[in-house]
Amino acid sequence: KPIVAIVGRPNVGKSTLFNKLIGERLSIVKDVPGVTRDRLYRDVEWSGKEFTLVDTGGLEPKTQDFIMSKIKDQAQVAIDEADVVVFLVDGKYGITGLDEEVAAVLRKKDKKVIVAVNKIDNYIKNQDRIYEFFGLGFEEVIGISGEHKVNLGDLLDAIIGKFEKMNTVQEEEVLSIAVLGRPNAGKSSLVNKILNKERSIVSDIAGTTRDSIDSDFRYKNRKYRIIDTAGIRRKSKIDDSIEYYSVLRAIKAINRADVCVLMLDSTELVTEQDKRVAGLIHDEKKPLIIAINKWDLIEKDNSTVKQFTELVKTELPFLSYAPVITMSALTGQRVMPILDQINDVFEEYNKKISTGVLNQVLGEMIAVNPVPTRKGRAVKINYVTQIGVAPPRFVFFANDPELVHFSYKRYLENKFREYFGFEGSPIEFIFNKKS
Ligand code: GDP
Repeated sequence: KPIVAIVGRPNVGKSTLFNKLIGERLSIVKDVPGVTRDRLYRDVEWSGKEFTLVDTGGLEPKTQDFIMSKIKDQAQVAIDEADVVVFLVDGKYGITGLDEEVAAVLRKKDKKVIVAVNKIDNYIKNQDRIYEFFGLGFEEVIGISGEHKVNLGDLLDAIIGKFEKMNTVQEEEVLSIAVLGRPNAGKSSLVNKILNKERSIVSDIAGTTRDSIDSDFRYKNRKYRIIDTAGIRRKSKIDDSIEYYSVLRAIKAINRADVCVLMLDSTELVTEQDKRVAGLIHDEKKPLIIAINKWDLIEKDNSTVKQFTELVKTELPFLSYAPVITMSALTGQRVMPILDQINDVFEEYNKKISTGVLNQVLGEMIAVNPVPTRKGRAVKINYVTQIGVAPPRFVFFANDPELVHFSYKRYLENKFREYFGFEGSPIEFIFNKKS
């Protein structure tokens, strides 16, 4: 069942609209911001289609100074859950700064959005008030009145219309993989091994261009796509531009990827070029596996894996969350298990921890290692909640967020990873003010 969330700044009429759409008075509606306590869900049927309607009013801020960040959090949560977002604005007031904040969040998420301009009580007379809201940058804008039930049928039609589009474009989910690394690390060899066929070797002739071709395949009943990064090794006559284009190309591949594999050459660990590619992956906040290739060439004893892993961790300290594996694209050793691991890190990347559990763990962490006092002030972290996935993002609320020291944040991150895993996935901590 699709989820439809009503999102908007306080007092635009979210709860009233919610109640009219579900046809009963459920949430307490009063003309005071922040009056709805809990987020409410109700199933709605229209034209034979069912969906779950969410009133996000319960996530509204209680104090003024807190509004900005809280509104954004609220929109984030609703957005992450919803298939369609009804972005409610006030037709009497026009666009406010807060509306723009919400719009920015929605645009970034690329969601199906319907802008509903509320409080258009007399549609014939007030119709022109809706136009300025096209300025928010969404295609669909509808004038309504929740209170007076004006145009609610049109709004419901528009909502359902979005489902239909959703179903036609909805395909089987594909997990896209970018294999990255410097030339000769063994990227093509790995890709060929996985695809089990010899792909055409990239020509070394200067100026040869080849459009990128992604390759799809199935493994354990899941669809994968290997993003072609051949351009990264392409030679060019204009030497100055090689680096530029290869970086650009890498960023593009990383951007499109769900999971990245950074290939290193075990016979040359870890070069500057490796570090640069690693830095790009880190910047894009993508989940990652580090593969030490050409393991067949290394003389080994029972501490070799550990030595190599530690070397990589030391050289790439900012990627300490990434699992490191050894493999051989030539012999095929541990090639297919990489796919299982790719699946795992992708799941970690999309993992959501409930607020209750998070706060229980936070409480224990603080009890064991209290937040250090700084500048003579007691620093209190009161609350944490996960506001998003891919990458997992957490908001901590503290009385004095700027006084939470970097090393304490690192302690929190390490403990979070100990408790919750998130292996291979970057995680983001945001500190907000609230006493
Ligand atoms: P790319 O530039 O990263 O795509 O690297 P290639 O896949 O073209 O590999 C570069 C060279 O390393 C080729 O000669 C491969 O045969 C060789 N190679 C790749 N993987 C391995 C491996 O696991 N072991 C050994 N011994 N050689 C490898």
